[in-house]
Amino acid sequence: MSKGTINVSVENIFPLIKKFLYSDHEIFLRELVSNATDATLKLKHLTNIGEVSVKYGTPKIEIKIDKEGKKLHIIDQGLGMTADEVQKYINEVAFSGAEEFLDKYKDKVDDAGIIGHFGLGFYSAFMVAEKVEIITKSFKEEPAAHWTCDGSPQYTLEASDKTERGTEIILHIAEDSTEFLEESRITTLLNKYNKFMPIPIKFGTKEENDPSHEPETTTDKEGKETTEPQRKITVDNIINNPTPAWTKQPSELEDTDYKGFYRELYPTQFEEPLFNIHLNVDYPFNLTGILYFPKMGNDMNIQKDKIQLYQNQVFVTDNVEGIVPEFLTMLRGVIDSPDIPLNVSRSYLQADGAVKKISSYITKKVADKMKSLFNSNREDFEAKWNDIKIVIEYGMLSEDKFFEKSNAFALYPSVDGTYYTYDELYNKIKANQTDKDDKLVVLYASDKDAQHSYIEAAKTKGYEVLLLDSPIVSHLIQKLESEKENTSFVRVDSDHVDNLIKKDEATVSKLSDEEKTKLETILKEIVPSEKFMVQLETMDSSSAPFMITQPEFMRRMKEMQQTGGGGGMFGMGNMPEMHNLIVNTNSELVSEILNTKTKKKQERLITQSLDLAQLSQGLLKGEALTNFINRSYEMIK
Ligand code: ADP
Ligand code: MG
Repeated sequence: MSKGTINVSVENIFPLIKKFLYSDHEIFLRELVSNATDATLKLKHLTNIGEVSVKYGTPKIEIKIDKEGKKLHIIDQGLGMTADEVQKYINEVAFSGAEEFLDKYKDKVDDAGIIGHFGLGFYSAFMVAEKVEIITKSFKEEPAAHWTCDGSPQYTLEASDKTERGTEIILHIAEDSTEFLEESRITTLLNKYNKFMPIPIKFGTKEENDPSHEPETTTDKEGKETTEPQRKITVDNIINNPTPAWTKQPSELEDTDYKGFYRELYPTQFEEPLFNIHLNVDYPFNLTGILYFPKMGNDMNIQKDKIQLYQNQVFVTDNVEGIVPEFLTMLRGVIDSPDIPLNVSRSYLQADGAVKKISSYITKKVADKMKSLFNSNREDFEAKWNDIKIVIEYGMLSEDKFFEKSNAFALYPSVDGTYYTYDELYNKIKANQTDKDDKLVVLYASDKDAQHSYIEAAKTKGYEVLLLDSPIVSHLIQKLESEKENTSFVRVDSDHVDNLIKKDEATVSKLSDEEKTKLETILKEIVPSEKFMVQLETMDSSSAPFMITQPEFMRRMKEMQQTGGGGGMFGMGNMPEMHNLIVNTNSELVSEILNTKTKKKQERLITQSLDLAQLSQGLLKGEALTNFINRSYEMIK
């Protein structure tokens, strides 16, 4: 037996290991299972290239709990280590690796985020164990070795009588970590980190029906049938799927395989995904994965943090912020890449060249997939549009490359359910919806019911009205106006229909300028100026006498502010709800208001008309509504 002291240059790293990343103690299991997997895959590689004559067989990794002995065992059938290798890889390489890691990050625990996901390696065992043993037999013709360390820098290394190839790690679980002796806790951890690792992982056994046993049915004298019980067999409880869908080629997979894998990833999710996108590159970086579009609707928040990030089939995190573009964090699925540096902080990650390339690759793949889905089955794409538009629109807003590509598949539905691409829309409306200044005016509604009368008015003019109802639509419109030349978007209720698209057909006014001034004075005495801007308009005499609109610009800025960004810079934080009161000077009622002799009747006509105009916009509420109803009953008596 040999004894030694691990070469500690920092005073003592063991207490540090225990303290480090307190909440992340559980990663020790992932580290040890990863090592066991590496050792097995290395052996496979050596046998494949004919380097060693041993048989590879069907190795597995086993996790065992010894509750009484307070021990946790991780056993592999990999290539093992000789005593010299233990000395080299465990006492020197792994130790200095852990030491360097801690030295680098011990002051930056706050910046942890992604730090700590990898790096500590074998020595992370000391986060939960007071003593660790390694019993290992190399594939080489050499005696097995037994290493023991109790968390001080002293270790012992002696011969062992282990005969089967491979390594067994024994953790003597510390008093404060006995949770890791609970079967349920280990099951949870294995499911979280190791569910898709490439070597089968056994954790206990389970009972299964014996497939070779066909239960016999016998009939007794009275004709009563009895079937013997199904014979059970005990099989290994393998907790992982070593070949998950993303590790396969797209050509090997059917639609049902993709859906099946989705259920494997999200067992509690009942809804099926709408589309999937298979990611698969090996140059200039390595990346595989499958992304899914879930049914999204208009909710922007509930779906985040569902994409899982793996490195060589080892789970790392489900926070992919900084790795995939923000708009895609609403998707689900897996990304696996050994090229994402994980022992760095998020801010560093976002500046990393490889990560930037990965992010733009994913963006491009998503855009290409959308385009091909649109081209191959437009009807289906249209049917799903409402559930995916939020992601697409968000992408159009935040990624210029995506915006450019989206022209081929982004849809603009009309209130009647026709879906246009931008170019189709342009061709459809340019003749009728270009104003006198040669500007294309795109009309839209955000709510078919609330804006019903305005939509109808626009339709009678032959205008096409879009239905744009996602929560970020004001931002999108702003973006479209700045990208598409000479185009403006106007909501149907932002002005009288004659003013939505201004053309050169002036209506002759019945009122003289003098009468208009007089009318304005009368109106302003009664209409509250903090709520309404009175605006006299010469319109068709059959158009409504009073009408309430909210100017496009004001409303949009307010909306943009509510959904973040944009409007904020205009300092409209406390902007009151301002509306325009459009008064049709050619209407009969307005003539009557002007010519009425008694002040009292004039006031009543104005108040009642104003209330009616508010009512048609859903703006009349509370006491004002009660007053209106009472007054109306008085009037019809
Ligand atoms: P890393 O896995 O990043 O190399 P670790 O600290 O996890 O760092 O492990 C250090 C080294 O110890 C490994 O590179 C390997 O050589 C050796 N090792 C650890 N666990 C095993 C094992 N189960 N079988 C064989 N060698 C192992
Ligand atoms: Mg390791």
